[in-house]
Amino acid sequence: MQTLIDIRHLTKSFGNLQVLKDINLSIQENEVVSIIGASGSGKSTLLRCMNLLEEPDSGEIIFEGSDLCDLRTNVIQLRQDIGMVFQSFYLFANHNVIENCTIALRKVKNMPVDKANEIASYYLEKVGMKDFMYSDVRKLSGGQKQRVAIARALCMKPKVMLFDEPTSALDPEIVSEVLNVIRQVKEDGMTMVIVSHEMKFVQEVSTRVLFMDKGVILEQGTPDEIFVHPKEERTREFLRRYR
Ligand code: ADP
Ligand code: MG
Repeated sequence: MQTLIDIRHLTKSFGNLQVLKDINLSIQENEVVSIIGASGSGKSTLLRCMNLLEEPDSGEIIFEGSDLCDLRTNVIQLRQDIGMVFQSFYLFANHNVIENCTIALRKVKNMPVDKANEIASYYLEKVGMKDFMYSDVRKLSGGQKQRVAIARALCMKPKVMLFDEPTSALDPEIVSEVLNVIRQVKEDGMTMVIVSHEMKFVQEVSTRVLFMDKGVILEQGTPDEIFVHPKEERTREFLRRYR
């Protein structure tokens, strides 16, 4: 297996608060790594460091052989290779569905409009949103918005997708429509890092699960190791909340 992301001795503080403490983590191609842990444990900060939405204080994040923290790293190229989906969608409200999916293809990849539209239609079809191609994104449900956000990220043909609580803003009855799309992205072989509180989904979809506690990866293993035979008392205590 090929290492895609190699994080070494990563630290990050906000003021006096050390949020990431010497994080070491290697992600291999085609892995689905889920991160679980209490609110405030540093999950989002770790994901955000992986595409430089946050600047690490020290350590290295090697992506395909180059250090993200190195000034010479091409951040624009990097963001094309690392797709991100957020809890609150971040769609462009003043653009329709297909424009949301094609803006980066056209402006960043300089693609002609018909080629960009072709790619966007393909991914909108995949997430079941092709019929809404010309819809105003403000009129979509949360689940529909998130499926568009996933299609938009896929349009860039990223090498890895980062999901930060992609269903936490959704009504319970529409969580599954987004989880089904993520399952399908996995079937297509995408490498993914997922922060989620949907424990059944995490257990089923992940190749590896990390439990974060107060800025460290306290425990990691297969879904069985973490959910059925957790070693650490803190992990057991956290998981009891979801029974
Ligand atoms: P999680 O995603 O696990 O809930 P976060 O990574 O969002 O945790 O946050 C970890 C800690 O860092 C929290 O205490 C949070 O308040 C703090 N934090 C996160 N982002 C910032 C920021 N931009 N400025 C100051 N503190 C922050
Ligand atoms: Mg978070």
